[in-house]
Amino acid sequence: MRLSGKVALITGGAGGLGACQARLFAGEGAAVAIADLRGGAAEQLATEIESGGGRSIHMRLDVADEASWAEAVGATVRRLGRPTVLVQNAGIYVRDSISTATLEQWETVMAVNSRGVFLGTRAVVPHMVEAGGGSIVNVSSTSGIVGSRISAAYNPSKAAVRVFTKSTAIQYASSNIRANSIHPGPTETEMLDLVYPTAEVRKQRELEVPLGRFASALDVAYAALFLASEESSYVTGAELVLDGGLTAQ
Ligand code: NAD
Repeated sequence: MRLSGKVALITGGAGGLGACQARLFAGEGAAVAIADLRGGAAEQLATEIESGGGRSIHMRLDVADEASWAEAVGATVRRLGRPTVLVQNAGIYVRDSISTATLEQWETVMAVNSRGVFLGTRAVVPHMVEAGGGSIVNVSSTSGIVGSRISAAYNPSKAAVRVFTKSTAIQYASSNIRANSIHPGPTETEMLDLVYPTAEVRKQRELEVPLGRFASALDVAYAALFLASEESSYVTGAELVLDGGLTAQ
């Protein structure tokens, strides 16, 4: 199995991408801590994984809150052991524009999508150092690479994750901790309904994808699995784009 012996903490683990990773990682032998603002949904998924023979715990986590991180990481260490894999999916999307976005919206998106990744890295890295190494996978977006007509804060919040990941890779390479970002294009989860609110807009965008379809959650989970596993032991500070060719044009 590709992740045996690893303890993976997955934020946003009750949602589309995170939940898919939690199932895949557990099937590959990882003990999985599912951390999400929606504690009930995290609990349901952990129960499903345990009843299928996997090892999983759940916790409510608000990634924007430092104290919440301390609790979640403490519970993971106590119940599963030191995390050696951290996948940071937790994120929010607000459809707005530079002229219509409120300051409050901007700050909320930044707090969850950018500050959350900083706080998560700081909370988990000391345990990875103690464990002798680890792999951090930060879920940015193609929106972290290019601009957008339909958002003000979302793209910069994801761009911050892209470069923060490279700084993490540089600062912790000597501790055998790797950090990489993944950049999905539009992916079939609940979030996509916020990005493209009508079937017509959605279809139009899908036609622009060279591979002719949006990503599935599993397309993204397999990339996270590769980066979490030892198969990517020489990959750090990299950005992996998963967009069916959308931004290659
Ligand atoms: P989703 O809305 O299905 O899931 C997001 C999860 O994050 C939810 O379970 C939610 O409860 C959780 N969450 C939100 N705020 C949180 C907080 N403060 N603390 C902890 N958990 C919180 O969305 P998704 O599509 O699975 O998105 C996962 C990640 O992928 C996000 O960072 C998103 O920006 C990114 N992404 C998504 C797409 C897409 O098209 N779906 C494309 C590129 C990148």
